[in-house]
Amino acid sequence: MAFEQIRKVISGDGPGRETTLNYYRVGPNNAEKKVYLQAAMHADEQPGILVLHHLIKALRQADRDGTLQAQFVIFPMANPLGMANINHRQHQGRYDPVSGINHNRGWPDLFPIVQSEIGDTLTQDIEQNKRRIRDLVRNWLTEQPAISALQQQRHFIMREVFDADYVFDLHCDNDSLLHIFALPQHMPELQSLADWTGAAATLVAEDSGGGSFDEVWSTLWTRMRKAHPGVPLPDCYSVTMEYRGQFETFDEINEDDAERLFCYFQSRGLIQGLPSRKRAVSPPPSDLTATQVVRAKQPGLLAYKVALGDIVKKGQTIADLITIEGDDAFQIRTPIIANTDGLVLSRSINKYVWPTKSIAKIVGTETLEDRDKYLLED
Ligand SMILES: [Zn+2]
Repeated sequence: MAFEQIRKVISGDGPGRETTLNYYRVGPNNAEKKVYLQAAMHADEQPGILVLHHLIKALRQADRDGTLQAQFVIFPMANPLGMANINHRQHQGRYDPVSGINHNRGWPDLFPIVQSEIGDTLTQDIEQNKRRIRDLVRNWLTEQPAISALQQQRHFIMREVFDADYVFDLHCDNDSLLHIFALPQHMPELQSLADWTGAAATLVAEDSGGGSFDEVWSTLWTRMRKAHPGVPLPDCYSVTMEYRGQFETFDEINEDDAERLFCYFQSRGLIQGLPSRKRAVSPPPSDLTATQVVRAKQPGLLAYKVALGDIVKKGQTIADLITIEGDDAFQIRTPIIANTDGLVLSRSINKYVWPTKSIAKIVGTETLEDRDKYLLED
């Protein structure tokens, strides 16, 4: 049995800016599997904090009961720097105010780092290969500078996540149904995660283009496998989970989410015991290139014509945009239409929008021509 709270001090970029990163390690130290979970990397996305608050309690009890078969490392608030970014009575947690970096972009691409060092050292022993690759990542991490506050924060996180077998990065959308971002190679294994958690959609892409946190851990192994055919290599199942909308942070929702994650872990043998509920059936994965991100082309006020979960047809009006300047301002309504048949997965909480602002995501089944290499919303 082991339950440990760990505190890491991040020295600030300015006086009075020192902060602390808190996380937990639960479960046997000699466990074969490691599960890493974090929430609020985008610090303004907080439902995941409440999910992990409830999950920690359940894992601690499971640890007392001796049923944990994996070590769980949990960062309930992975971005204290972003949490502290309160200006003019508003919290803004998506971007680092010092560098302008999106907190969930620009994580290091590990594949070329490992590939350039690996030589001919891989064997037919999967455990040996796993250790060899992880040693290279660990060594590389040790050499990385951790000078600025953001570098220090990322460094502490990377040193805990790099040897995990499962990585769960808990985010939320603006106003949304629960959905998951994953690699296509990890389906159908991760269909079970979608089913257990009740996801409305699983959006898959091999590389969404932004160096997002979840992708760097999973694609290291899928790309190594591609570069070394015939060599046995493990997987790192790494996902971003979007726990609905920004303001859906409630015990009655998020405690249930924690129980569902717990059931998923039981179903994978990471925790002993039978799940307390039945596995639901979630839709099969959809390629991210088939999801339309509907954007505004001019400033205006939205009047939605659809609700979350609606199934729409191509050409259907998603919202009217009420013009707010020029001739006939506040009289003209311009329809914004769907470019695909599909599920309305997300909308905008803010009804005042401007050019390029995303107003909805529609999950379709056919690849859309305007979806290029950068697939993320921003
Ligand atoms: Zn996010």
